[in-house]
Amino acid sequence: MNAASKRTIPPRYLQELTLQEQVHVALGSATTLEEFYLILGCVLVDPNIFAFSRAFILCYDSVTQTYTGRLAVGALSRKEHDRMRAEIAEEDQRLFEQIATAQAANAEPRILQQLYNLRFHSLWIHLMQEQEGSVGLNQAFQQVTLLENELPENHLVRLAAQWGRAQIVQRDSVDTQGLNEFLRFPLLAGHVVTKRGLHAVVFADRAFEKKPINSLAQYHFQWLLNHASVTLDNVELLEELRQSSERLKEVDRIKTNFLSIVSHELRTPLTAILGFVQILRDKQVGPLTPFQEDLLNRVAQQSAHLASLVHDILEVAEVEAGGMLQVELTAVDPLTVVMHTTTRVEERRKSKGVVIETLVEEAIPFIRTDPNALERILYHLLDNAIKFSPTNGRVRIYFRQHDGQLHITIEDNGIGISPENLRKIFDYFYQVDFRLERAYGGMGLGLTIVKLLLDATGGQIRVESAVGSGSRFTVSFPIVESPALNPEI
Ligand code: ADP
Repeated sequence: MNAASKRTIPPRYLQELTLQEQVHVALGSATTLEEFYLILGCVLVDPNIFAFSRAFILCYDSVTQTYTGRLAVGALSRKEHDRMRAEIAEEDQRLFEQIATAQAANAEPRILQQLYNLRFHSLWIHLMQEQEGSVGLNQAFQQVTLLENELPENHLVRLAAQWGRAQIVQRDSVDTQGLNEFLRFPLLAGHVVTKRGLHAVVFADRAFEKKPINSLAQYHFQWLLNHASVTLDNVELLEELRQSSERLKEVDRIKTNFLSIVSHELRTPLTAILGFVQILRDKQVGPLTPFQEDLLNRVAQQSAHLASLVHDILEVAEVEAGGMLQVELTAVDPLTVVMHTTTRVEERRKSKGVVIETLVEEAIPFIRTDPNALERILYHLLDNAIKFSPTNGRVRIYFRQHDGQLHITIEDNGIGISPENLRKIFDYFYQVDFRLERAYGGMGLGLTIVKLLLDATGGQIRVESAVGSGSRFTVSFPIVESPALNPEI
């Protein structure tokens, strides 16, 4: 079919959308600056909208004071131009048929709207990308960078940036150095400004159209640039959001790096301290008075605590950086691990006068987990239970078997946790009381580690708590029926 005859059929959906609405839909669908200028260029050259032959946009960067040609749309020869228009008309026709089918099938307005929008994303943009091999279009996509300070006073770009409204420009009246291969005269020149100032200068010509560039074209061009300026405020806002989210991700990455470097560096001197203290405690270098022995025990305990904190940070940093916790699942006797863990919190328990009751009413089965992971899980839960208990409080550990699972519960009668905080306590560095002068120490990493270890070993956790009446943390693991027969599970 002849392309020209197709162009004479006004697609029905274009009748339904006014020019203003079409532009609004088109520009409003942009979410990045790149996309925005691509669409602006397409609107300018679309045969059904502004129908300029070519459009050329130079974006201004106020920091480097440069103009960069991001986009030049439109063909460089009449032949190319006619072929592209014919393809556009064909695309239009196809889209029109799709919309007609969708309408006949009573499609939702949302779907129709998507088809309308598609036009602005697909037609010229698609053509441009498809035709990348074409010499003319490659030239059209060429990047041009102009330094503001190097432009003469009567350079077209400088003037377009200063003019209050769009102007019709003739060749002889201006300097166009650096842009000669992109410009055809007469042309329209204007600019896009936002609240932050000049954003871009825009040129459009009618090199291949019979219609002249007259004051009506000038009026429409200015109208589009005004509209673009308003829309651009939104696009900039989106871009700012995107950039700040990128920045946040970067800060997060730096934090993770920082944590892992610092904890690595702390580990070496800590290992040395622990080793030397052990030599002293073992009396390898001479006898100790009871007072010295007591002091050394405290140094050993505090260093071990510090080593455990450093270990936690390192592990969290590793997981955050995309690593995995190393675990090895075997058949584990949970009671042995519980008993061992209670000795690790003995110092804290004694200093608060808290009583720990381990209730064993029946034989406790073996479970499938990693023994080190289980010990660390129980350690953090028990440590918290004591920490958040009142002086002379009571912590209970009990077991329950149900549905092939062993549930280990650590219950305290401490301060409890409110429902809104229950959801957050497993987050990195989260503490209900985060003031520096808070009553309880800690880094807010214990429960994060617990969750990571449970995820790695396939265990589960449940928390029941109410402010003022204590907390109950229950961890569950699959029971291993006969570990003796299958110790490697
Ligand atoms: P922290 O090092 O602060 O104990 P955790 O990740 O282990 O870090 O716990 C996070 C927060 O959850 C604690 O700061 C505390 O506010 C709350 N929490 C945890 N366990 C208990 C508990 N048994 N009773 C009351 N609050 C608790």
